Amino acid sequence: MVTSVINWFEDKRKFGGFIGALLEEATRSSLSNEREKRVSVNASKGLWARCDNCGNMLYVKFLKQNRSVCEERGYHLPMNSMERIELSIDPNTWIPMDEDTTARDVLSFSDEDSHENRLLLSQEKTGLVDAVQTGIGYLNGKLIAPGVMDFHFMGGSMGSVVGEKITRLIEYATQKVLPLVLICASGGARMQEGTFSLMQMAKISSVLQLHQVRKKLLYISVPTYPTTGGVTASFGMLGDIIIAESKAYIAFAGKRVIEQTLRQKIPDDFQAAESSFTNGLLDSIVPRNLLKGVLSEIFEPYFSVPYNK
Ligand SMILES: [Zn+2]
Repeated sequence: MVTSVINWFEDKRKFGGFIGALLEEATRSSLSNEREKRVSVNASKGLWARCDNCGNMLYVKFLKQNRSVCEERGYHLPMNSMERIELSIDPNTWIPMDEDTTARDVLSFSDEDSHENRLLLSQEKTGLVDAVQTGIGYLNGKLIAPGVMDFHFMGGSMGSVVGEKITRLIEYATQKVLPLVLICASGGARMQEGTFSLMQMAKISSVLQLHQVRKKLLYISVPTYPTTGGVTASFGMLGDIIIAESKAYIAFAGKRVIEQTLRQKIPDDFQAAESSFTNGLLDSIVPRNLLKGVLSEIFEPYFSVPYNK
């Protein structure tokens, strides 16, 4: 099996060498530690949380120890991006990129509240500037380029900042010959930013084309609960390898919208990772606590393939 995977990587990548990115940004890690503290303080408010799926009340301390997995039926509840980063790479190796890129309310959008206010509230609540964190870090001693979306920031919606940060991360990974991992959690494109949000789908897809097809570099996408709309319809489903989290909800249009449009009931497990896997949409389903190990196993043969120009 390992040999065939190595062959696959060899076929996929016929050039270049893993030069590894220089850690010139290392000085910025102190900044991120500061942010990390803020995020964990925000996340630790309250002693109890309710499971979205079974409705059970869960003791936050145990829930955290259990990596936000509800023990009742193994539902994987949304995690914040910092917890995910800690779970996915070697400790203390995270170097964030574009931390100060913030959105402008170019459309002066307002419904019950202004977009500007919503952004400020989300920034205060999460300690993040927008719904994604991008950067580089080590996994089992190998440098990779992860991007992690945060559902707690305006439902993980993809606006111009999310799109731009992911685009820059992909361009950086392509330039430095790094494998890319994008962990998705999103309600889709950010409606408050209109066409600017939709534009991000095409922008990200085109830089991914350069990364994957032209430069033959690896991209793994990890859809988690929930991954929907414009994220599913662009980078969420473009991974060379797509690894969903157990019981993740992966959809383009939501179940209710489909039922209302078709005027018929759709099955309960519709759009669950398990049924998408059965129908061939995903390569694998992995429980949260095993993800890091699975990624390491994939990267091991990938990094062991020698470079031939
Ligand atoms: Zn539950």
